[in-house]
Amino acid sequence: MEYEPVIGLEVHAQIHTKSKMFCSCPVVKDTGDLEPNTYVCPVCTAMPGVLPVINRRVIEIAIMTGLALNCEIPPVNCFARKSYFYPDLPKNYQISQYELPLCVNGYLDIETESGPKRIRICRAHQEEDTGKLYHVGAGVSHVDLNRAGVPLLEIVTEPDLRSVEEVLAYATKLRAILVYLGVSSGDMEKGMMRFEANISVRPVGTDQLNPRHEVKNLNSFRALARSTAYEIADQIATLEAGGAIVQQTMGWNEAQEVTVPQRGKEHAHDYRYFPEPDLPPLEISREWVAELRARLPELPDAKKARFVADYELSDYDASLLVEERAVADYYEAVVAAGKAAPKTVANWVIGALFGLMNESGQEIGQVQVSPEALAELIGLVEEGAINANTGKEVLGEMFASGRRARQIVEERGLAQISDTGALEQIVAQVLDESPDQVSTYLGGKEQIIGWMIGQVMKATHGKANPQVVRELLQNQLEAKRS
Ligand code: ADP
Ligand code: MG
Ligand code: ZN
Repeated sequence: MEYEPVIGLEVHAQIHTKSKMFCSCPVVKDTGDLEPNTYVCPVCTAMPGVLPVINRRVIEIAIMTGLALNCEIPPVNCFARKSYFYPDLPKNYQISQYELPLCVNGYLDIETESGPKRIRICRAHQEEDTGKLYHVGAGVSHVDLNRAGVPLLEIVTEPDLRSVEEVLAYATKLRAILVYLGVSSGDMEKGMMRFEANISVRPVGTDQLNPRHEVKNLNSFRALARSTAYEIADQIATLEAGGAIVQQTMGWNEAQEVTVPQRGKEHAHDYRYFPEPDLPPLEISREWVAELRARLPELPDAKKARFVADYELSDYDASLLVEERAVADYYEAVVAAGKAAPKTVANWVIGALFGLMNESGQEIGQVQVSPEALAELIGLVEEGAINANTGKEVLGEMFASGRRARQIVEERGLAQISDTGALEQIVAQVLDESPDQVSTYLGGKEQIIGWMIGQVMKATHGKANPQVVRELLQNQLEAKRS
């Protein structure tokens, strides 16, 4: 029997605000160096008698995210208490949303091998983060509440995803949108996004929803992809061996690359959800929604369409450039700073620059080559001052040292020889020294000219203008025919 995976994704994104969800404690980007329990107050440590106050900015960001995900924003939403006991949860309940979330009925279109596909988003709701436990030794754990009360947005899809590729396409695109909106830094290492994958399988051609495994706390794209792939294969194997899948919560063992059962799946009723009595239902005026919609920045799909239309880029190039907002901005700045065709600039960014970034593991924000500096380099190549290969070498040096192209070219004497007088002699010499190749050429195998160009480049230490060399070679070879 052939099976197909059925996957629904829950994504928790930390919303980057100045202060926490229900108190004025600061939210810091990187809690790594922070002493435990520095940014805490009676509210986020749940002292008796305190009251939560909703952070308006969080609601604003959540609505904008909902709008970017094509959601409806119902006129009223409601906070709810989700009760459970865990030592990192000082109130013994989490303020979340249940029956009336902030955003409902949205979707995200992703690219798949067989064309675009719409992934429905059933809800996006607001909730607060928990603290963090440190297990320090036998039977001893410490709790740090710096993170308690930090605002999160939970974005939940319908079970519309059918493969690991689709899951990755969705997660990548969602991350891009969150970063575009400035909702999140999207920094996976710092836990700015965490995934929960709900996975079941069913015979192809059926449409039932079978019991699922819910893999919790996946904090990288890699973990998301590997654990999903593992679950799909494992569930199919179980069914084929005559076993059954029971609904269950799983964890991901990164080292062994297996999912492990954590506990029986709890159900909504286990949490005893009920409306948060300390917060009245939140009314969202239509005017506010309209105002926020007007403030949405250009999102990846729109930017991609504009790049294709205005810069005459291929779909593929445009999608590579818009994946990160900072990369798209960088690219546009290079185009604006120089005279080269946008397509040429795209080739430099996607080819040479991305190559250097991959090698060094740098993000665009860390790259020492400013858009103006890259435009200058591309200009030097375009006007023929250096050839493309030298250009790439120079870019490597700019990337490593932060120095400008002109300076490097001058210092190292890299300027290209386009002067035909000087090159003519070298070309003549190469032809004299290669009688066999010359007869091959004259005999009709003209592609041997590539080898001859190589010889000239060697003789000029790569500084010759290859176009000029090709022309000179052709002229001199043709002259030999008579
Ligand atoms: P919970 O509150 O237990 O996390 P939800 O009903 O809110 O459960 O569903 C959570 C996620 O699980 C959603 O993304 C949903 O699309 C997905 N899901 C529900 N049923 C299935 C199923 N049978 N197979 C795969 N995913 C599912
Ligand atoms: Mg869940
Ligand atoms: Zn606080």
